[in-house]
Amino acid sequence: MAGTVKLVRSLTKMQALVKRAKRRGQSIAFVPTMGALHAGHLKLVEQARRAADLVVVSIFINPTQFEPQEDLKKYPRNLVRDLARLRKARADIVFCPTAKAMYPAGAKTWVEVGQLSEILCGRVRPGHFRGVITVVVKLFNIVRPDMAFFGEKDFQQQFIICQMVSDLNFPVKIVIVPTVREADGLALSSRNAYLSKQERRTASSLYRALRLARQLVKSGERSPSVITSRMRQLLRRYGITRIDYIALVDPLTLAEVKQIRGRVRALAAVWVGRTRLTDNLAL
Ligand code: AMP
Repeated sequence: MAGTVKLVRSLTKMQALVKRAKRRGQSIAFVPTMGALHAGHLKLVEQARRAADLVVVSIFINPTQFEPQEDLKKYPRNLVRDLARLRKARADIVFCPTAKAMYPAGAKTWVEVGQLSEILCGRVRPGHFRGVITVVVKLFNIVRPDMAFFGEKDFQQQFIICQMVSDLNFPVKIVIVPTVREADGLALSSRNAYLSKQERRTASSLYRALRLARQLVKSGERSPSVITSRMRQLLRRYGITRIDYIALVDPLTLAEVKQIRGRVRALAAVWVGRTRLTDNLAL
């Protein structure tokens, strides 16, 4: 049964609702998103719904995490459909602040995570994680959640958020939700909407490459360079030639491993046409 969902645009209104909920002793679960919601986002909302009294979902296309040449302007937007989906998922509040309210003229403070934001995706998107972490901190301060839900799909992002929460002593429990995929393995992403039919078929080879890595490890391969070059080969065969990175990392540090020993995660970012896709898998 669909519930009612309150659309809140003003920061002060959001803060007042949080204050009221706290006074009533209600627990708050928070799911930050950039909208164009799909089943991956809804999985986060579903878990939030089970975990707390009040479920707040934010939809905010955060300008500070886009590089100047990136897709901020054409990023998919569909608030009407998002609201219908969130009503069905029984979210309580949808927080949609404006960029002006979130970043008023004269704001000067950034939250930096140092070296962690300079590797992997951060190497090709230099200001990206500074923008992400700054907006997450701001949203946490406005919504004051007891718990917040993030997808494993963005592995480096969730890693950096956990680091920040621990470093800055945020009283927020972070819950990481496994990646929701299409039948052919492609991880759901708002940016998949950019793919043409042909590109959509090509896109699933990213998951194939990750599965190949897993299979190689299972069959005894221990050399990261052998594994990543086999992944590159597979991607090329399916028509993916622009690869931002493929890395096998220690999931506890994000450092690239020199040998496969213990837990390892494969992370990759590739381009299919003009669309950048990222994915990752435990090996
Ligand atoms: P976004 O709107 O892309 O910023 O994503 C909002 C949240 O949804 C982030 O925590 C993402 O990691 C998560 N998310 C995105 N895609 C998926 C997916 N396919 N499965 C699970 N979570 C996802």
